[in-house]
Amino acid sequence: MSRAIFNKTLRGGLILGLLAAVSACGTTYNVPTASDKNTQMAANMFAEERDPATAQAGRRLSTSAALRQFAQVVARVEPVAERFCKQETADRPDFNCDINIVVDEQMPVRNAYQTYTKDGRPVVAFTVPMIADARNPDELAFVMGHEMGHHLGQHMHKQKQQAMAGAIILGAVAAYGQASANASNPYRYRGNDQQVLQDSMTLGAGVGQMAYSQTYELESDVIGAAITKAAGYDPVKGARFFARPEGQKTQDGNLSFWGTHPPDAKRLATVLATVEGIEANGGITRKTN
Ligand SMILES: [Zn+2]
Repeated sequence: MSRAIFNKTLRGGLILGLLAAVSACGTTYNVPTASDKNTQMAANMFAEERDPATAQAGRRLSTSAALRQFAQVVARVEPVAERFCKQETADRPDFNCDINIVVDEQMPVRNAYQTYTKDGRPVVAFTVPMIADARNPDELAFVMGHEMGHHLGQHMHKQKQQAMAGAIILGAVAAYGQASANASNPYRYRGNDQQVLQDSMTLGAGVGQMAYSQTYELESDVIGAAITKAAGYDPVKGARFFARPEGQKTQDGNLSFWGTHPPDAKRLATVLATVEGIEANGGITRKTN
């Protein structure tokens, strides 16, 4: 084998291997396919939520009453979620199911998110404006379940791995392209190559995140629906929160909760299909491989 062909095969193998690593980072749970009936119903619900005249009604609570409502939801959802988590990760004894649900008192905008403490404890945080804005306890429960779903699905870790693998793949492709160009034209100007390589690494990180985020969002909806239902709340009523016609950005120019969770009818259709599946089969299902 000539050296050039060997190098080409080696690089091809590296890229294929990395692609396999990226596709291995899929979802843990089956995301059910919505039936035509689910899709139609979701489209109707979505349209209702987009129109203030038909949107789900809610009573605006005082901040203190809203915080009391939130505490009640936490008291019901937290034990159910932790039991669910332990049961689902029984084969992974190191998995941390001690999810800390906190109120983020600093962030001045409506938001809820999942993160980790420095020592790796999962945290689900709600801002005060978010808590005050929920129209009913089902919305709080569903958003809580959804954020816990990001931890159970290990989305942050997977997304980081994918971003890195994506950056390496594009970097390897760009390096290979440059090596080929240099081989075929020894006089080719090489001054920009490092910059091209750098640009493709940055693009790779963004592309890897974008491609996986909707898949992970829907997986979190599936897990969130299961937790919400097990805690005695209505996941469909709760999921309507995500369909509200809100701005994608906050006043300070950051992505809002609806910017990181773009409203669409597919989310509602997935929740409808998940609830049907739970009622028929008793729970959600993990992928077999
Ligand atoms: Zn999410």
